[in-house]
Amino acid sequence: MPNNPPDAKLVLSRVSARFTDDKRDVYALKDISFSVPAGAFVSITGPSGAGKSTLMRIILGFMEHESGTVVRNFERPAMVFQNYALFPWLSAIDNVAFGLKMAGVPKEGRERAAREKLKEVGLEHVADHYPSALSGGQRQRVGLARALAISPDLLIMDEPFSNLDTITAEALKADLLKIWRAYGITILMVNHLIPDAIELSDQVIVMGAHPGRIEKMLTVDLPRPRDTRSTPFFTRVDQLTEIIRSVS
Ligand code: ADP
Ligand code: MG
Repeated sequence: MPNNPPDAKLVLSRVSARFTDDKRDVYALKDISFSVPAGAFVSITGPSGAGKSTLMRIILGFMEHESGTVVRNFERPAMVFQNYALFPWLSAIDNVAFGLKMAGVPKEGRERAAREKLKEVGLEHVADHYPSALSGGQRQRVGLARALAISPDLLIMDEPFSNLDTITAEALKADLLKIWRAYGITILMVNHLIPDAIELSDQVIVMGAHPGRIEKMLTVDLPRPRDTRSTPFFTRVDQLTEIIRSVS
């Protein structure tokens, strides 16, 4: 059951959702309850088909849920996707500035802000490149800069490292942690990499499939910055591995 701290950015209580078509009726999510405290880093993990992406869509209001309640104590959510989802016809800087344009920020202001965000993710030098001329890691960094440009009070990331090679993913993860610390932003991340989840998160939510449900929640109270070679770290990794093994 969710604790219900007054400063929670997000509180879900018994949220259920289903997809119906002529052939079948799928419970995508059943009785999902958890909360995300302001400033926390919360990860969601679980097998493919557990409803993780559906849950993110519901949180963002892109999809209706069937029952239960979603309390959204945030005003400017931003999303980073697995497949980057950049506009191919816009340069890196224009991709980053896009959200600001939608928000009515004048051209000069949004270009300055976009350039600053690109710099923060180490991509100032490719500001004028189009996505097709960027590597996967660079595209994901543009996606992150675009998300940060709107000064989000909740950052939702759906498997942001999945399409990246290990070295690129490690570098992006380190930068993300730096940004999280610097901004005190609240992050909710779907991530199926167990050591990453332990390294990044205050709490890990483990979902199961058919129906999509919460199986376990693990609080990770290791001090930060986390030593990924320490015994307590490995103990947590083992613990989470066991939990995931027992649910799948
Ligand atoms: P995950 O992100 O955990 O892999 P998804 O949220 O993508 O899971 O999907 C959860 C379940 O809902 C799956 O069984 C999937 O087939 C089903 N599903 C997802 N989107 C749709 C849709 N638009 N129509 C019908 N079923 C869907
Ligand atoms: Mg998914």
